[in-house]
Amino acid sequence: MDFKKQPVIIKAIELAKRLNIKIFLVGGPLRDLFLKKRVLDFDLAIDGDLKKFGSLLAERLKGRFIYHPQFLTGKVIYNSNYIDIAHLRDEIYEQPGALPKVIPIKDIVVDLKRRDFTINAFAYDLLEDKIIDPFSGIDDLKNRIIRILHERSFIDDPTRIFRAIRFAKRFNFKIERKTLILLKRAIKESYLTTISYQRIFHELNLILKEKKFDKMFFSLSQLGIFKKIFNKSLSYWNIQKLKKLKNFKIPIEIVFIYLLYLLNFRKPEILKKEERKVIEELDYFKKIKRRLLKVKRRSEIYQLFSSFSFSTLKIIYVLESPLRKRIKIYEKIKEIRPLINGKELKKMLERKIIKNLKEKDFSKILLHLKLKRIEGKLKNKEEEIKEVIRWTQGH
Ligand code: ATP
Ligand code: MG
Repeated sequence: MDFKKQPVIIKAIELAKRLNIKIFLVGGPLRDLFLKKRVLDFDLAIDGDLKKFGSLLAERLKGRFIYHPQFLTGKVIYNSNYIDIAHLRDEIYEQPGALPKVIPIKDIVVDLKRRDFTINAFAYDLLEDKIIDPFSGIDDLKNRIIRILHERSFIDDPTRIFRAIRFAKRFNFKIERKTLILLKRAIKESYLTTISYQRIFHELNLILKEKKFDKMFFSLSQLGIFKKIFNKSLSYWNIQKLKKLKNFKIPIEIVFIYLLYLLNFRKPEILKKEERKVIEELDYFKKIKRRLLKVKRRSEIYQLFSSFSFSTLKIIYVLESPLRKRIKIYEKIKEIRPLINGKELKKMLERKIIKNLKEKDFSKILLHLKLKRIEGKLKNKEEEIKEVIRWTQGH
C-alpha cells in the first residue's frame, strides 16, 4: 500500500526496529486508507516506551511530542500534520458511562477488542507487513456496515451511540441489525444519562463539525436521543436553522450555543460564561422580537440592539432576515460617538459651566448625546455643550 512510502511511516518503522518494539497502524486513518480517502495524519500503536519513541520520532521529523502519560497516548506535531501514538492498551469500564481505566498491554488483539466498531478495530502490523483483523472489520468496511464488537458495548460507553450514527451517516453505512437493536435498547434504558454533559457536548461538537451533521442530528432526534438527554427533541426546522448558521460560516462554538438554546438547555453551572450570556440574550430576543420588527427610529434601533453581544447579533442576522436591514443600520450607528467625552465633562464641571452633574451620571449624559447624534440632531461641539447645559438644568 502507498502509505508505506510516506516518509513519516518509513521513519517510524526504522525507529521501532532500532528500539526493538512492535508498531501498528490503527484507527480511523487506517480505515480511511481502505476507503481510499486521503490520509495525512496517522494513528500508531506501539508496545514499548511511548515517551522515548514519541520524542525520538518528533526529533527526526523536526517536530515536537506532546505526551499524556495518564492516558498512555501522545501526539507528534510536525509541519502542520500530526501523528497520534498510543501504547497498546486495555480499557476497563468500572461503571457505565464513566471514563475507563487504562492498562498497558502487549497484545494487539486485546487492544483491538476494546474498540468501538469492527471498521475501527483492525490493525496493520508495520514490521510484519500484514493486516490483523480479528473481527472481520475489512469485510464490514466492504459491505458498508457499522457493527459493535460485543453486546455490552453501548452500555460500557454510551458515547458510542453518537459515534455509530456519526460513522453511519458520514460514510453512508448501515448500522447492523443486532447493533441497532442494542443501540435502541441502550437509549431506552437511559444509559445516555450516565455520561457527563462534558462528554455529550464533545460528541455533539464532533457531529456539528461534520459535513452531513444535519442527517446525523435528524437521526439522533428520531431515535429519541435528544429527548432522553435534554427532554426536548430537535425538529427538522431547527436543524435547518443550524444548517443555515453553518452555511453562513458562523463559528462552530456559536452554532453549538444555538443548539443548546434550541434544546432548552439552561443549566448555568454547566455552561461557560459566553454560552450563558448568548443563551440569555436569545431568550430576551424572543421576548422583544415583535418590537424589533416594528422599530423605525434610529436611536431606538440603537437602544434595542445594543443589548445583544456580537455572537447573538450574528445568529439573529442569519436567522431573522426581516431584521437584517435594521442590524446593518445598528452596526453603522453604533460607531457614532459624541464629540464631548468624560474628560471634557469634568473640565466643564471644574469651570462651573455646568452644575448638578455627578460622575456617576456621566455615562447617562454621554448616551443621551450619542442618541441625539444618532438622530442627527447635534451637528457640532457647541450644540453638544448647549445640550449638556440644558440636560443638567433639567435634572
Ligand atoms: P475520525 O475519523 O472521526 O477521527 P476515528 O475512528 O479516528 O474517527 P477517533 O475518535 O479519532 O475516531 O478515535 C480513534 C480510534 O480509537 C477509533 O478508530 C476507535 O478504534 C478508537 N475509539 C475512539 N473512541 C472510542 C470509544 N468511545 N470506544 C471504543 N473505541 C474508541
Ligand atoms: Mg481520528
